[in-house]
Amino acid sequence: MKLLENISLAGSTTLGIGGPARWFVRAWNELDIVEACDWAHARGLPLFVLGGGSNVLIADEGFAGLVLHVGLKGAERDGEMFRFAAGESWDHCVGRTLGANCAGMECMAGIPGTVGGTPVQNVGAYGQEAASVIERVRAFDLTERAFVEFSNAECGFAYRRSRFNTADKGRYIVTRVDYRLRRDGAPLIAYQDLKAHFADRMNTPTLAETADAVRSIRRNKGMLLVEGDQDAHSAGSFFKNPAITEAAAEHLRNVAASEGAPFRDFPEKSGLVKVPAAWLIERAGFNRGYAMGAVGISSRHTLALVNRGGATASEILELAERIRAAVEARFGIRLEMEPELVGFA
Ligand SMILES: Cc1cc2nc3c(=O)[nH]c(=O)nc-3n(C[C@H](O)[C@H](O)[C@H](O)COP(=O)(O)OP(=O)(O)OC[C@H]3O[C@@H](n4cnc5c(N)ncnc54)[C@H](O)[C@@H]3O)c2cc1C
Repeated sequence: MKLLENISLAGSTTLGIGGPARWFVRAWNELDIVEACDWAHARGLPLFVLGGGSNVLIADEGFAGLVLHVGLKGAERDGEMFRFAAGESWDHCVGRTLGANCAGMECMAGIPGTVGGTPVQNVGAYGQEAASVIERVRAFDLTERAFVEFSNAECGFAYRRSRFNTADKGRYIVTRVDYRLRRDGAPLIAYQDLKAHFADRMNTPTLAETADAVRSIRRNKGMLLVEGDQDAHSAGSFFKNPAITEAAAEHLRNVAASEGAPFRDFPEKSGLVKVPAAWLIERAGFNRGYAMGAVGISSRHTLALVNRGGATASEILELAERIRAAVEARFGIRLEMEPELVGFA
């Protein structure tokens, strides 16, 4: 275990923002994780687990404890089951499943970050989510100081939620995730953007073609990490799509009709209706390309707050709060932030 001190975290995040980690360690295997946790525990230091840094906003003051960067590598395949170590790049792992012509992740191509981050917020895109393919999650339990394994049902998955970012937040360090896919399965072409992409196709696209289409759609929206794309200096969607009551959704539909700005909503099993946060933000007066000093809204995606160069975490947070206040004032809906805030008082 190699302990480093006062390491800037900005370069380890897709936003390119964040002060220093007082202590920093990169874990290459499970033993490193145990050692690092013991070291922090013995000194009473707080611990933060960092993956690809694509869903975090780290404070300008940095983090006063130990930042443990998960670097565990490894990939195994047993038929339709893929076992990936937590530090593997998610997108590379999607590529491996496509290479084996296995279905289930093709719509999640191009999501940045690590395998370890996928069960935490149950990542998802274009109609697919990690929960639909995760079979098992292996993790280090900081409370019991032992490795444990969770079945899919035990992970408590919901929209952008799991036990790892709700009830047990901060308790587990994911070291491996097992995914079960469908060999030679058909791709999922459920979302409008994807349907439109393949509108002229007579036959079903392959899994690889579907993933390529997803990447191309993401690139056009600035939601793919592409060198030099200013709009990609984000943490992805900064706000979750809120789930509201049918009566509240009906009110929004009426507003949409009277303002000539229609949107699509998605009824959920719970009886609530998921509505697009982007629509709420735009109707509250914040549009793509909005700028506030060095921070702003992506010019191609309303939900992505971006660092236009030299931005601070407090500036991002200030813009996020202004947007939330405007949406709440107009619609009475409090938007929930998606990235984890790290090191804020
Ligand atoms: C351009 C862009 C596009 C995006 N598009 C999408 C999208 O379409 N869908 C979507 O769902 N998300 C999207 N995201 C958000 C992000 O990519 C995902 O949330 C991703 O899973 C985060 O993984 P990470 O490894 O970067 O986690 P980090 O950002 O490093 O960490 C995020 C959280 O997970 C925890 N964590 C990370 N690794 C572990 C581990 N091994 N054990 C325990 N906890 C851990 C951290 O402590 C933190 O709480 C996007 C982000 C960007 C920048």
